Parts: sequence; C-alpha cells; structure tokens
Amino acid sequence: MTAIPRPVILFGGRPAQREEWGAAIRAGARASGVAMDLRMAPEDVDPAEVDAVVYNPEGPIQDFAPFTNLRAALNMWAGVEKVVGNQTLKAPLTRMVEPGLTEGMTDWVVAHATRLHAGIDRHLHLAPGQWPQWHPPLARERRVGVLGLGELGADAARMLAALRFDVAGWSRRPKTVEGVTCLHGEDGLREILSRSEILVLLLPSTPATENLLDAETLALLPKGAAILNPGRGPLIDEAALIAALDSGQLSHATLDVFRIEPLPEDHPFWAHPRVTITPHIASVTRSSTAATALVEQIGRLSRGEPLLHVVDRAQGY
Ligand code: NAP
Repeated sequence: MTAIPRPVILFGGRPAQREEWGAAIRAGARASGVAMDLRMAPEDVDPAEVDAVVYNPEGPIQDFAPFTNLRAALNMWAGVEKVVGNQTLKAPLTRMVEPGLTEGMTDWVVAHATRLHAGIDRHLHLAPGQWPQWHPPLARERRVGVLGLGELGADAARMLAALRFDVAGWSRRPKTVEGVTCLHGEDGLREILSRSEILVLLLPSTPATENLLDAETLALLPKGAAILNPGRGPLIDEAALIAALDSGQLSHATLDVFRIEPLPEDHPFWAHPRVTITPHIASVTRSSTAATALVEQIGRLSRGEPLLHVVDRAQGY
C-alpha cells in the first residue's frame, strides 16, 4: 500500500451525527498525531479527491462510483450485510471493531442470559400469599452456547465463563477462547445445539447463516431452552421459532434484531407471551470509543500499512 501522508476522509454518517463524530474524530487524530483532511458532508468535497469514506448504511453515501480514487470504506457498524454486496464499492471494506461496541454487547448478553438463568421473571409480580420455593441451578450447572466467536461472541463467551457458566462457542473455523469449549463445523453445530440451555446468536447475516435456526436445528436444543438473538434477524426462521415456543421446545426468545426493523406492529412476536423484544439496542458504535478505532485505520492508510478488520467479501463478513 502506498502511504498517503494526509488522506482526505469523508464522513458518511447521518447528518445528525456530524457534529458529535467530527469532534470525536478530530480529538482522536490530535491525540494520536494522525494527519487527515476530514470533510463532514458529500457536498464539501470533490469525490475524486476522497481517500476513505467513513460509511454508515443509513447515511447519504450509498453509491461509491463517483469516488474514483477511494482506498477504503470504513464501516461504522460491525454488521456489513447492507454493503457487502454493493457493486459500486471496489475499495477494501472494513467493519467496526471498537471496545464500546463489544462491551455494550457483552453487557446485554450477560443481563439477558442472567435474567433467564436466575428466573428473575418468576419473582417480578409475586402477590401476597405467594411464596414459591424455586432455586435456579448454579451458573456452573447452566450450559450456555454462543454461536459466533468473533469480536463480540468471544467477548460475551469469555464473560459468561468468568461468571462460571458452562460455556461452549461455535465458529466457522477452529478457535481457542480461554474457559470456553470451542466447536466448529457441522458436527460442532449439532454438539453445541444439543447442549445449550441458553443459546446466544452472535453470527453475521450471510447466505451461509440464513435460517441457521430452523425447525430441524431448533429441535436439537434441550427441551425448554431459551434463545437470545442480538445477531441479525435472518439467522432465525421465524415461523419455526414461533412453533418451537408454542410447543414448549423453547421456553423463551429474547430478540433484539429482526428481518424488518422497526418490527411491524402486527408481527406475532409482539403479542407472544414467551418473546421479549428489545429494539435493536443490544449495542451501538459509540463515538467516544469508536473514533480511536477509525483514527487507527486512517493512520494506517496514511502510513501505507494494511487496514485492520477487512471484510472477506466472498464470505460476506
Ligand atoms: P465477527 O468478528 O466477524 O465474528 C463473526 C463470527 O461468526 C466469527 O466467529 C465467524 O467464524 C462466525 N461465523 C460467520 N459465518 C459463520 C458460519 N457460516 N458458520 C459458523 N460460524 C460463522 O463479527 P462480530 O463483530 O463479532 O459481530 C457479529 C454480528 O453481531 C455482526 O455481524 C452483527 O450482525 C451483530 N451485531 C449486532 C448488534 C446489535 O446491536 N444487535 C451490534 C453489533 C453487531 P470465524 O471466527 O471462523 O470467522
């Protein structure tokens, strides 16, 4: 890669994000001594001058064709399914990896796994005269599975293991995560499903992961298992999920992501007694921590070093 001493960076976030992100990126650049010419709106720059776009799937830049000298598109999100197939983008695409996004996701996973493990809902509405004696198993006796052992899945799995849950994880390629039984491939999928009383989905949305949880795979889970999906909606066959909840095969599904967002008002998930909906808030890219990650990528461009977290467009993540 050729070094570009002062790359022209175009911020492609939503207009409402410009002030906050502009300040955060400039502060990060000052702190780490990275030189850049940061432009905050497409109208501020000749597209042919732009070296890198900070890309937001909900932002104004979706056609990369005018950016004839583009060296990189730096996605503001971890998920890349909305851009990975964009034929106008010829430059390398990176996905967002930053500690705020990771820690926020782990907080969400731990909170919702613990709710189910500890049976918190059993005691939320106790009436006078009710004194049910129910004790959850110890965390060490609770088997949790995490599908996806990437930046987010591995951190969540590690934290669950630190809380003494009996944790297994599953990825495409073999992995090692301390304290976690790591599985991969087809056999690994069957194994992790058959042991997981609480199953967390932290896979990307790709052709290979679409409907990974369908009637057949849901049937492999222990009866009464629960699912947490902060990954992506298409990972689950919705009709199969509802059937598994209705039959008691699943006891609960906590869903943060959906095929259509916001979730349509007439969607059966809203009224289902065993579904908890969170509105795609499991985590978020935070300017306070993500600006450092963006500045690191821009510094790499300026020094001619390889970018981090480059998306494998053939794999789709
Ligand atoms: P990542 O680092 O790319 O990790 C993806 C993981 O999934 C890797 O372990 C990968 O396996 C595994 N994987 C991918 N395809 C697979 C397949 N066909 N079979 C088995 N394993 C497969 O991604 P990340 O940063 O952890 O993010 C994961 C996802 O979380 C994102 O794509 C996004 O959809 C979602 N997300 C949601 C929110 C929210 O607020 N709800 C926020 C951020 C992200 P290898 O390790 O073998 O490559």
